[in-house]
Amino acid sequence: MVAKLPPSANDRLNRQLDLGMEKRRLHPLFGRIVDLFFPEPAHCPLCEFPFHREPKGWSRAHLCARCQEGITEIMGGVCRICGRPDAGPICNECRTSEHLFFSARAYGRYLGTVEEAIKAYKYQGSVALLPILGEWITEAYLRYYGAERNAVVVPVPMHPVKKGNRGYNQAEELAKYLCKVLKLPYADILQRTVAGASQTTHNRIDRKYAGQNPFEMLATPVKTRRILRHHSSHHLSRTTSTINQVAGQTVLLVDDVLTTGSTADACAEVLYRGGAEAVHVLTVAR
Ligand SMILES: [Zn+2]
Ligand SMILES: [Zn+2]
Repeated sequence: MVAKLPPSANDRLNRQLDLGMEKRRLHPLFGRIVDLFFPEPAHCPLCEFPFHREPKGWSRAHLCARCQEGITEIMGGVCRICGRPDAGPICNECRTSEHLFFSARAYGRYLGTVEEAIKAYKYQGSVALLPILGEWITEAYLRYYGAERNAVVVPVPMHPVKKGNRGYNQAEELAKYLCKVLKLPYADILQRTVAGASQTTHNRIDRKYAGQNPFEMLATPVKTRRILRHHSSHHLSRTTSTINQVAGQTVLLVDDVLTTGSTADACAEVLYRGGAEAVHVLTVAR
């Protein structure tokens, strides 16, 4: 007898793509409400392999055994600065070129299940993967920062046009998840002013942003800024003096993946200019 195997990577990619397109037509919140009233039978949120022996209804999000096996966690001797695996105490890259952030740490290697899950969440609208990615980044926080709860969590921003197309910024969602679970302060205070190619294009020119920093700090919280656009200038003078949430603080910059670290460096530069004491970086993968 042949055991039923999970669908091939190609099958599930196609299906997730269809599903993603379908979901993207709806508002993400609406999709979640639909899921609430019409729950699908339990299945692995990554490969969709059904969990036969599990009761229907709500249970903590988890992957199937096969997907779990494809995770490579980062443990042990990482570079003290950039967190590069198996490269302690300081890797060759960090010896030759300096990073602006104090340290970067990640949950796992950007390959196998971790890479697939990040891509499915980012590009195929597989929002059911957020709790999985969220748990991973929370685990990485506890692994490297333990009981510390001092840092202000800042997500790496996405260009507003790109965010509009995708419906969400994965870094923001991860940062919010982390803050909710660990009760950390959240500050969405950076904005991306220059639309760059996505990191997956491996475009070095984009990564080095040709000397121009694509990020800047929001002078006021996002909500206030939205109101400002619709009001006359006298309101502007009244509301621009809002507090800077990172001045004198340790900042934990959150993103999905760290590759060269140049995005994190660009954000760190802006945060230091805004008065941040130290910038650390936490990602799901690297
Ligand atoms: Zn699976
Ligand atoms: Zn390093």
